[in-house]
Amino acid sequence: MSRQTIIAGNWKMNTRCESAVALAKGVVAAVGEKPTVQVVLCPPAVYLHTVADAVAGTAVELGAQNLYAAEDGAFTGEVNAAMLTDVGCGYVILGHSERRALMGETDADVSTKLHAALAGNLVPIVCVGETLQDREANQTEAVIETQIRGSLAGLDEVRAAGIVVAYEPVWAIGTGKTASPEQAEEVHAFIRSLLGELFTTDVAAQIRIQYGGSVKPSNAKELLGQPNIDGALVGGASLKAEDFAGIIAAG
Ligand code: PGA
Repeated sequence: MSRQTIIAGNWKMNTRCESAVALAKGVVAAVGEKPTVQVVLCPPAVYLHTVADAVAGTAVELGAQNLYAAEDGAFTGEVNAAMLTDVGCGYVILGHSERRALMGETDADVSTKLHAALAGNLVPIVCVGETLQDREANQTEAVIETQIRGSLAGLDEVRAAGIVVAYEPVWAIGTGKTASPEQAEEVHAFIRSLLGELFTTDVAAQIRIQYGGSVKPSNAKELLGQPNIDGALVGGASLKAEDFAGIIAAG
């Protein structure tokens, strides 16, 4: 089963209008017309429209960093799936560890958002990952299993095949500490076998699993070369077109 590599840039709460456009254009220029990997930019919600214009007609795709799982209505400050597709998003990051830790998002919340994303024709990028404390207590697999089972609750086989999972060890995010390719591959293989249990091995073989956590041009090739690592979710290094281009080139 060949899975197309997917490299996504999670810009988090960074950039301004002008720098967002410049960054998006820099990525477009670096990617060229027919990249062999899929490239997705996830700017802050307020800049989605602007970045959509900057990447229009190119191979670079657009994703959001979050959504609110409701139809239009009285939800001050929130943005729903229909609005995201309306401005050109094809993807949405869900359950990022920062949202889990800072905004108190639970696996149940992520599952609700997952169903809203799918109903709205967005590909969800579902994030899971253990903390350093979990890893040191040998709880990595148990934590990941709980997150996967909870976040993907109610998902059927047909829809499961199209989702993206991002394994992002919390201790590697923004810290400069990357999981070694072996450490990452071990967890990716575990996630794939778990997906096989939840769905079928065929479906599990189709689901793309990204690695995230201090991915940079210098470590991308080795990480992306692992059999169960199908892409990268990139934070810090996605804010410089040159670095992001280096990661894409490794894919
Ligand atoms: P990082 O962030 O690449 O800066 O570690 C990754 C992420 O949080 O998605």
